Amino acid sequence: MFDKILIANRGEIALRVIRACREMGIKSVAVHSTADADAMHVRMADESVCIGPASSAQSYLSMPAIISACEITGAQAIHPGYGFLSENAQFVQIVEDHEITFIGPSAEHIRVMGDKITAKDTMKALGVPCVPGSDGGVPDYAAAQAVAAEIGFPVIIKATAGGGGRGMKLARSEAELETAFRTARAEGKAAFGNDEVYIEKYLGKPRHIEIQVFGDGKGNAVHLGERDCSLQRRHQKVFEEAPGPAIDAETRARIGKICADAVASINYIGAGTIEFLYEDGAFFFIEMNTRLQVEHPVTEAIFGVDLVREQIRVAAGEPMEFSQDALALNGHAIEVRLNAEKLPNFAPSPGRISQYHAPGGLGVRMDSALYDGYAIPPYYDSLIGKLIVHGRDRPEALARLGRALGELIIDGIDTTVPLFHALLEEEAIQRGEYDIHWLEGWLEHALN
Ligand code: ADP
Repeated sequence: MFDKILIANRGEIALRVIRACREMGIKSVAVHSTADADAMHVRMADESVCIGPASSAQSYLSMPAIISACEITGAQAIHPGYGFLSENAQFVQIVEDHEITFIGPSAEHIRVMGDKITAKDTMKALGVPCVPGSDGGVPDYAAAQAVAAEIGFPVIIKATAGGGGRGMKLARSEAELETAFRTARAEGKAAFGNDEVYIEKYLGKPRHIEIQVFGDGKGNAVHLGERDCSLQRRHQKVFEEAPGPAIDAETRARIGKICADAVASINYIGAGTIEFLYEDGAFFFIEMNTRLQVEHPVTEAIFGVDLVREQIRVAAGEPMEFSQDALALNGHAIEVRLNAEKLPNFAPSPGRISQYHAPGGLGVRMDSALYDGYAIPPYYDSLIGKLIVHGRDRPEALARLGRALGELIIDGIDTTVPLFHALLEEEAIQRGEYDIHWLEGWLEHALN
């Protein structure tokens, strides 16, 4: 096992990894920008290294600075968290070239899954169901017309290098196709330096269902059920729950096995998430994330496991602690993402926290790097915490969420907390009846 791990991240996820390290008797190294000198992850780690100025490009994304920090402190492994360098195949290669262990999958798996076309081709070949669409890239408009005619409108044009909801364009009819095709290409080129696009059938009212998988890198893998992350705003998840209100045990076992078998067959190592759109009882693969997800705690809650501990174990060459047969789902968990944003427009609201009080009690987990007097810097993501509740069933989890939100105090800035109070009043949320478009539709008239 490692003696010392460097965490190439900040905020709540850096704390999350430090906590796992401490329970395992492993020393932790925090890295930070000058803007984060007072951040909680710096205070909580055993050691810390300043790696650059506020701008992420020169600090949390600076590969030489992070490698140097490892060498200075003698850290043997790097945990990347999510975001930043977590899905950067080149970084993984450089880390390994320096004989440091990357806690995550191989550079090759990250590369394959990071390109949407190669990801889809790979998954299709492994027996994972995909959205009907073009076979690979669509070279020109004439080819786009041919694919659209075959699969039927509406269609979605996607940049193969796209991410975070960018580089995707909807065409409801032939009249919209040319503009959608050209815009998706231009966005792919501008944002990701790659203008290759592909076409998929556009699904009208799907849910976003993702399967948590975990592999040991030696041909063994398990699944830990699904998360329903359909409640999204601008393709950003807002509220996640497990198990999915629309998924039964038989469906879970069936899609879970397909996913676990797929990753086992490629000797995948560590945590991964296979994302699907789910409509009328059918699953359609959209992408695989080769890292820990923001919403992993809902899975941890219902399965009673520590995914970060497990990531560290398999990266150190130890066997997985869980087996498929021993993984039993218990109760229901919900996570809400607390952002430093002002409603109703979700404008960023950084600033100083005058008072902070985290909720507690049975079944409540608060993952946050906030503290009294902390000044949230304006340079990074607006996520300031995740509130996770676990109950014996969905109604209990919902009631507990309302209770915990009521206890939470974050003064001095605006947050998205009122959004969740309002959502809990909604019949559709209480019943678990929503799709990926529900939240945006609701926001058009709610909160105003
Ligand atoms: P990104 O990598 O940018 O997040 P994804 O391929 O994961 O892109 O898609 C993001 C979101 O876009 C999905 O969660 C869903 O809301 C919507 N989406 C993607 N593909 C389709 C599709 N074929 N039909 C309908 N909606 C889609």
